[in-house]
Amino acid sequence: MALERKVKYEGDCDKEFAKWVTSQIGGDNLRHCIQCGACSASCPLALYMDYTPRRLINLAREGFKKEVLGSFTIWLCASCYACRVECPKSIQITDIMYLLKRRAIEEGVYPRRFPIPVLAREFGRMIFAFGRVNETLLVTDLFLRTNWFRFLNMIGLGLNLMRTGRMSVLPDHIEKRAELRKVLNALDAEEKAS
Ligand code: SF4
Ligand code: SF4
Repeated sequence: MALERKVKYEGDCDKEFAKWVTSQIGGDNLRHCIQCGACSASCPLALYMDYTPRRLINLAREGFKKEVLGSFTIWLCASCYACRVECPKSIQITDIMYLLKRRAIEEGVYPRRFPIPVLAREFGRMIFAFGRVNETLLVTDLFLRTNWFRFLNMIGLGLNLMRTGRMSVLPDHIEKRAELRKVLNALDAEEKAS
């Protein structure tokens, strides 16, 4: 990923976003970050991120919403928790990443055609609709939305997997889908209210 070296100005901050991040569970101690960089040093993926975890934490708490929600960093995070273990201030960096991913999906501001956010969103939609994930539909949807050429290349493999019964075309679903939706909606409402 290209490294972002642009100077940031206070006028570009979104104070409401900063307030929101720091009021969330896990975000409440962001102000304690001393910018030591232990998180970035321990992160196995920092090399590929546009903002290292240390920089992302700083941008998030100051309210640089556009940069944070539009970054590749939050989607490249592999949830290994190495940063969390090394952080001298016990900042829940991994959980913050999840928080920011959810917000980016809600606002539709993730990097276009980048597979990870598309996969996360479609995975969620499928669980909501069927209670289960159908790999064929998920992968087809992912490639159609992100990379048409890859989709064409994968058709042969997909057909082979279907022929040998490794992938199914018809979406499987759980019996009590309505109950599951009630639970998911309640969780969603609770999170929005918090
Ligand atoms: S390790 Fe913790 S205190 Fe140090 S920069 Fe990262 S988040 Fe901040
Ligand atoms: S949890 Fe994410 S940000 Fe933290 S070290 Fe692992 S990959 Fe990096």
